Amino acid sequence: MAPVSTLAKYKLVFLGDQSVGKTSIITRFMYDKNEYFDASSSHVIEGLTNLIHATIGIDFLSKTMYLEDRTVRLQLWFRSLIPSYIRDSSVAVIVYDVASRQSLNTSKWIEKVRTERGSDVIIVLVGNKTDLVEKRQVSIEEGEAKACDLNVMFIETSAKAGFNIKALFRKIAADLPRIETLSSTKQEDMVDVNLKSSNAAAMQSQPQSGGCAC
Ligand code: GDP
Repeated sequence: MAPVSTLAKYKLVFLGDQSVGKTSIITRFMYDKNEYFDASSSHVIEGLTNLIHATIGIDFLSKTMYLEDRTVRLQLWFRSLIPSYIRDSSVAVIVYDVASRQSLNTSKWIEKVRTERGSDVIIVLVGNKTDLVEKRQVSIEEGEAKACDLNVMFIETSAKAGFNIKALFRKIAADLPRIETLSSTKQEDMVDVNLKSSNAAAMQSQPQSGGCAC
């Protein structure tokens, strides 16, 4: 098996107000086997999200995606408010909650990213929690218009329902700059959970996705 270091690696930072669902999006992508809502998996995702929040020492989770023509390894960083985290990232995922108009005010995050990275970064605006149909305050058209103004990509998701989570990461992967790699040999080890605490066992015993089938 080729060592992980031979894969093209990309760092993704997740930004946005508290409680918009950043950790839930990461957890859903890491651990869900399929995209479709199922009450029990939603419960697991919530449990894992809480576990990540409660665990000191986790800064990122990694996942390998097998694309048609190449293999990429994504490092998903959260708690990434520190400029140095943003500085060497390839992608900034900026999340708002469609049920909170206030959270759509993402300009400060975009500015932070552009200050650190200039135009050398992929930025995606994500409207999360689309399952909260009755509570929606921001329409898809408003989200799209905001993304258009900011000149960034756009997608709506529901981490709870598993809606568009895989599509979000596919969209990102398709846009990643190509980096020459020493080897693109497929690896059996698809998910590398970077945990530094005793909670590692609990996390790793959860069902894991077999990697993205894109
Ligand atoms: P973070 O602070 O941005 O990392 O947000 P979390 O991922 O911790 O989520 C905050 C709260 O929103 C938690 O109670 C989640 O269960 C909930 N949440 C996250 N994503 C969704 C979603 O898509 N729909 C709904 N209804 N709740 C969500």
